Amino acid sequence: VKSETNVIILGAGLSGALLAFRWKSLYPQLTIQLLERNTAPIREKTWSFHEADVAPEIWHWLAPLASATWDGYEVCFPGRPTRTLSRSRYASIKGEHLLEKCELDELIRWGAEVRSCSRTSVELYDGTTLSADLVIDARGEATLPSGGFQKFLGQNITLKEPHQLKRPLLMDATVTQSDGFRFFYLLPWDSHSLLVEDTYYSNTSDIDPALIRKEIEGYIAKKGWVVEKIQSEEKGVLPLPTTIEEQSQNPSEPLSIGMRGALYHPVTSYSVPWAATIAHHLTPTGAHQELEQLKRRLNKNHPFYFLLNRMLFEGAEPAERWKVLARFYGLPEPLIQRFYGGKTSFSDKVRIFAGKPPLPLNRALQVLLSNPRGKEALA
Ligand SMILES: Cc1cc2nc3c(=O)[nH]c(=O)nc-3n(C[C@H](O)[C@H](O)[C@H](O)COP(=O)(O)OP(=O)(O)OC[C@H]3O[C@@H](n4cnc5c(N)ncnc54)[C@H](O)[C@@H]3O)c2cc1C
Repeated sequence: VKSETNVIILGAGLSGALLAFRWKSLYPQLTIQLLERNTAPIREKTWSFHEADVAPEIWHWLAPLASATWDGYEVCFPGRPTRTLSRSRYASIKGEHLLEKCELDELIRWGAEVRSCSRTSVELYDGTTLSADLVIDARGEATLPSGGFQKFLGQNITLKEPHQLKRPLLMDATVTQSDGFRFFYLLPWDSHSLLVEDTYYSNTSDIDPALIRKEIEGYIAKKGWVVEKIQSEEKGVLPLPTTIEEQSQNPSEPLSIGMRGALYHPVTSYSVPWAATIAHHLTPTGAHQELEQLKRRLNKNHPFYFLLNRMLFEGAEPAERWKVLARFYGLPEPLIQRFYGGKTSFSDKVRIFAGKPPLPLNRALQVLLSNPRGKEALA
């Protein structure tokens, strides 16, 4: 029996929306349904990415989905001049804009919480059973063993006066270091409004929103800015893995994409480049084999990034962690670009470890030698 729906995508978040957006325009005859447990689009996330993270043909359709794009970004570390990196544009999609720009309204079934699923069927908590030729699981974060956490709270703020920022400040690490490596992240949406986010690369996952709100208030005051309105807030605790169990896709389970399919950068937690590349290359008829191949290609450098996470969380004292990042952001811009896009080359890996080490050499070596996949990580 042919299913009524060709494709069911579980979750109308980033990876599900991008795939539906592409397939809707490339295969207009395909019937697609997105099942989303929430009753409204995700508002409390901002998805950022660099132009160089993706191939030019992907940037071509992805950039118009962005709420804002800038001609690069800046980073700032103690004792060093602010560095502008402008070889590649930087872009951000506001949570509330994604589904609107993808025009997916008619395809989404809101309030549909998935209880169980297979590659061709789905059961919802309300008892409904649905079937499709292909079920894709894009339900977001799956729990992975982690070496540490990237945790943050950000506020979208409108100021009384212009902030004068020209481009995003990806890392302002000149703030007091606490709870690991700490920095502020600023995204200037327009002359008066911006996202101000306080971020920690921490050993623990706990977050104290009241305390961070106070920190943001203090940071804004120091800049001499006066808040007119806090528009919205976002918060995240993202596990930074040091390993992922290699699992080949179980043929009875749906194909998993996005964070659920471990398709993201292990050090930055950015998943836009992975989600967009999958959406660009996957086809409804060849999805099984294509996804396996794409995963292998996109996650090729994961062992190296796991090693970096271990170096960061096991090799560096929390208070000294910023030095690792300060040194990294002193490296040539093309290397930094390839790093963000998950395309670190062999010579980049050598370059990242070469020179005067930011960590005590014996601790770094301990981490390297105790890594069961050390050789693979450096290949
Ligand atoms: C606050 C925040 C900011 C981030 N910023 C960036 C960034 O700037 N750049 C970047 O690349 N990455 C960023 N990330 C990391 C990552 O890219 C995002 O988490 C991204 O949204 C992951 O995409 P996804 O499609 O895997 O999951 P999601 O976008 O989380 O989508 C999953 C969807 O599935 C739904 N769902 C879950 N369970 C069920 C169920 N049982 N039934 C039905 N629906 C279900 C959820 O409600 C959700 O809508 C951020 C993460 C957070 C938390």
